[in-house]
Amino acid sequence: MQALVAIVGGVLCAVFAAAPAAAQDLVISNARIIVGNGTVIESGALVVRGGRIASVGAGAPAPAGARQIDGRGLTLMPGFIDGHRHIISGNADQWLKDQAATRMQEFLEAGYTTLLAGGGPAEGNLELKRRLDAGVLKGPRVIPAAQINLNNTTPEQARAEMRRLAGLGIRFIGEENINPKPPTPGQIENLRAIVDESKNVGALVMVHAVSPQAMVAAVDAGVPLLVHTPHFGWVTNEEAKKVAAAGVLNLSTAAFGVPLFDVFSQDNVPTFRDGKRWPDDILDGDGRGQEAGYKTVNARTLWDNGVVYGFGTDTGYLPLKGLAQELKALNLMFSMKDIVKLMGPNTAAFVQMSRDIGSLEPGKLADIVAFPANPLDGYWNMLNAVVVIKGGDIVVDKRAGRR
Ligand SMILES: [Zn+2]
Repeated sequence: MQALVAIVGGVLCAVFAAAPAAAQDLVISNARIIVGNGTVIESGALVVRGGRIASVGAGAPAPAGARQIDGRGLTLMPGFIDGHRHIISGNADQWLKDQAATRMQEFLEAGYTTLLAGGGPAEGNLELKRRLDAGVLKGPRVIPAAQINLNNTTPEQARAEMRRLAGLGIRFIGEENINPKPPTPGQIENLRAIVDESKNVGALVMVHAVSPQAMVAAVDAGVPLLVHTPHFGWVTNEEAKKVAAAGVLNLSTAAFGVPLFDVFSQDNVPTFRDGKRWPDDILDGDGRGQEAGYKTVNARTLWDNGVVYGFGTDTGYLPLKGLAQELKALNLMFSMKDIVKLMGPNTAAFVQMSRDIGSLEPGKLADIVAFPANPLDGYWNMLNAVVVIKGGDIVVDKRAGRR
């Protein structure tokens, strides 16, 4: 029954901007550089100083003592950002103890350098972030989240919960089951209350609007961030224009309804991303997998009407498989040029880190992923990261002869 979901993200992201102290100066030369702002440099050098990008261009001078990487044959892109990812599963303490190191490494190896935690326990997400920031754990930077219940509560209770979570420094507030077609008046009243309170505490409310009606209701309630592309019915140009005019940012989760193979079973039977059988076991589904069609077409409708549309998987399974599945769905409707913009600057805007991530421009954090083939030739070339750099630190290096 997952439908309209409220999440709150903090707007104060300065803490994520700090470069790791250990970051070494670095020069990657002779590489193709997909800057992320529309520019592609066919053979250039990227210089990193103090964890940030110092210069990008043809003949950039290397800082003395900088580590050199010969980028011949490599294509560089901004490190991947997932604007809505389920990270911790099950008991958080147990997960942190037994799984965190392995799971975080999988994200890095897939090319992710920033994740916004789309769910899970608030305390667990905060603890995960603490460990990553302290360097106890290696992984992408994590923007934590928590959840607020919009059902069986009053506006005052919902406001109090918003204040409590913001007080903890939590950037996210959790999921609630709200009628998608359309939300109930009580749900909307509570949603309005937390949107209003979010402004007092410097947070942002994000909603899973799964139908066009829920999307419009969320925009009318003042919600600034939408996590989900509607999958019940078609989004009209007018509705999409309304989202764009309100300045509301939207994430993809385009693969929500698309059949998934070889993750939960190896028997060529399609599943959903939770392992349940496709197409009949989808949450609240209309049947026969229509969601897959609504999602992808609505994605393009939102994009074409000027919505800032970013990348989010809303998944909890293997990072590389989730990346492949989301890209496969986006590939149906978007060019690779579009996908670069969608994944880079648009997703950086969604996670409120435009100044720091999303492109390979001077001044930004050196979050870089390198591939042996050109992603502009096809999304599948983004599934083979050989070097991943986070804040100037080389966190993955699979080049031949290295490691
Ligand atoms: Zn979610």
